[in-house]
Amino acid sequence: MSVERIEALVVGGGQAGLAMSEHLGKCGVPHLVLERDRIAERWRSQRWDSLVANGPAWHDRFPGMEFSCDPDAFAPKEEIADYFVAYAEKIGAPIRCGVEVTSVGRLPGRPGFRAETSHGPVEADFVVAATGPFQKPAIPPIVPADAGVMQIHSADYRNPAQLPDGAVLVVGAGSSGTQIADELLRAGRQVYLSVGPHDRPPRSYRGRDNVWWLGVLGKWDAATPPAGAEHVTIAVSGCRGGETIDFRRLAGQGMRLVGLTASFAGGTMRFAPDLADNIARGDANYLSVLDEADAYVARNGLDLPEEPEARVVGPDPDCMTNPILELNLAQAGVSSIIWATGFAQDFGWLKVGAFDEHGRPKHQRGVSSEPGVYFLGLPWLSRRGSSFIWGVWHDAKYIADQISIQRGYRAYRPSA
Ligand SMILES: Cc1cc2nc3c(=O)[nH]c(=O)nc-3n(C[C@H](O)[C@H](O)[C@H](O)COP(=O)(O)OP(=O)(O)OC[C@H]3O[C@@H](n4cnc5c(N)ncnc54)[C@H](O)[C@@H]3O)c2cc1C
Repeated sequence: MSVERIEALVVGGGQAGLAMSEHLGKCGVPHLVLERDRIAERWRSQRWDSLVANGPAWHDRFPGMEFSCDPDAFAPKEEIADYFVAYAEKIGAPIRCGVEVTSVGRLPGRPGFRAETSHGPVEADFVVAATGPFQKPAIPPIVPADAGVMQIHSADYRNPAQLPDGAVLVVGAGSSGTQIADELLRAGRQVYLSVGPHDRPPRSYRGRDNVWWLGVLGKWDAATPPAGAEHVTIAVSGCRGGETIDFRRLAGQGMRLVGLTASFAGGTMRFAPDLADNIARGDANYLSVLDEADAYVARNGLDLPEEPEARVVGPDPDCMTNPILELNLAQAGVSSIIWATGFAQDFGWLKVGAFDEHGRPKHQRGVSSEPGVYFLGLPWLSRRGSSFIWGVWHDAKYIADQISIQRGYRAYRPSA
């Protein structure tokens, strides 16, 4: 079989692959993007129906193109996917859809890599893994599959009608779990939400959105936390035009909050006695952002309207003062569990020495420990913003630069 050759091979045609393509194009690097499904597939088929962006359209985008909606609105997921399709056209990205990369290995005895794909082999000098920050739904092994309750991951949740009648336990109160629990509550379901440690920034404060505050306060650029000090989940929502997530308010509306989901035996789920602590820490995080924002306003003499009511924290709901530590699912009428417990990564196809003993990519700002292999779009690749739409664009620029530098070395020939 003939082998196609290209200088840089980008695996994955989501936002990361497109950003990479744009910057490689600008650097004049011949490249090819291979996407196994459609452009930005995960926004279409691995998100729930009502999902909107977590940041307003003026912010959650690439610098070179605006969304067609109101810049202060939160774009629905299909619009986000359409945006990337239009973006690929705009930059003329050399992207091939419907082609899966099944393995990539080093070429023996000569530089470069050989990729096996569903459409034949490709050889490349450089490989960029842009296969996503959130690849494989991760469900902790707590409840056996035959426990008599429907269990799905948030990546497979679509809408309330998909679930059998009855109460729902949502495990995980980051942005996904909280938004899904809220949607189910509004649909008339009895909802239990298992709340772990979290940050919950204000959606907006003193007339500016959270993304603006994160920007001016330098928090998007926060450095990668050291190993073992991973960040806690962030609960933020763009639903209904954007609103601050307030667990006390949700409890007031009838949601039953519980602590971390700890174990399951004999039909009964057990929760850690940490709900009040987790909520108190989330409140402290929220108030600290207001403090930092106020200090920023004062220091810079900005004329932003004061918002003292944002500091009012409601009373502790009953579920905080009398926590539910055990729940017999059948007795409580819980017919489904949604695990909003995050994702794992799977780089099984990338057969090079770029991983540590736990299978985690070894890299510095995306430049891997295997010369010629790069990672893009991973959480905290270079900073907090790395897995977000606007942040990946900047990381891609850096990686295109690094590839250009290596091309320069490879092209060097002594003048004599
Ligand atoms: C529920 C949810 C909401 C989010 N909301 C926001 C938001 O509002 N704003 C924001 O900035 N970020 C948001 N994010 C984070 C981030 O923007 C998305 O996760 C985004 O999809 C990441 O883009 P990506 O290109 O890095 O990865 P992906 O979108 O995962 O794209 C990777 C692509 O690689 C393809 N692929 C994988 N393996 C192979 C292979 N072997 N061969 C060929 N192709 C392959 C996949 O099909 C996929 O299309 C959200 C994430 C989640 C989970």
